[in-house]
Amino acid sequence: MGIPSTPHPIHGLVVIQPLKHQRCSACRRGPLSLLVLESGAPRCLNCADLGHLVLLPRGDTALTRRSREESALSAVVVRFNRRKGRYERQGVLVEEAALVRAEERCLADAEARRRRRARDARRRGVEDERFAAAFAAEILRLFPGCPAERARAIAAHASVRGSGRVGRSAAGRALSEGAVISAVVAGVRHVDTPYDQLLMSGVSRYEARRRIAPAVEGVLREWQGAGEEDVG
Ligand SMILES: [Zn+2]
Repeated sequence: MGIPSTPHPIHGLVVIQPLKHQRCSACRRGPLSLLVLESGAPRCLNCADLGHLVLLPRGDTALTRRSREESALSAVVVRFNRRKGRYERQGVLVEEAALVRAEERCLADAEARRRRRARDARRRGVEDERFAAAFAAEILRLFPGCPAERARAIAAHASVRGSGRVGRSAAGRALSEGAVISAVVAGVRHVDTPYDQLLMSGVSRYEARRRIAPAVEGVLREWQGAGEEDVG
């Protein structure tokens, strides 16, 4: 026949994509793109009562599994790989209505996943806002003289999700004083001092920080002591 014997590891109905031209041994139609071996003789799908099935190519595991679940009659489509000396799955034949139902189930899943992702994103957004608000409040508690707008900006910057910035660290999460002060120092450095210009002009980070240290100290002292006059 020139058709290798049917593959052992594949159970259930097996339909073969022949490598050579084959004719149906019952109705003589041919060449056949798909056939079933009955007692070693090729049969077309119509003669094998599988003509009403549709081919779902391999690739979508969930859709394949569900299509077979939904289909009263289904078959695995295989083709012989000469180089590897074995049959390989090409897809499945299933009832069209079953494929439609399976596609609907997969789409419903995708829609459910999309909605869950949107819910998660909204919840994270709310959490982020609450965290940034708490962070800003803590900044203002430690630095009452810090303008509220600056406190909000520093907190928002430090709270950006996935940024690895101080607000996102474990210490920042717990709103430790050290973490809040670090965020404020970073904010002051970039906004109230020529730190960035120094870095851009090639000054080393260490030297730049040394040069701006008095300016940073000054701003922090001013913000810490709002409403309190230094008594000499
Ligand atoms: Zn036939």
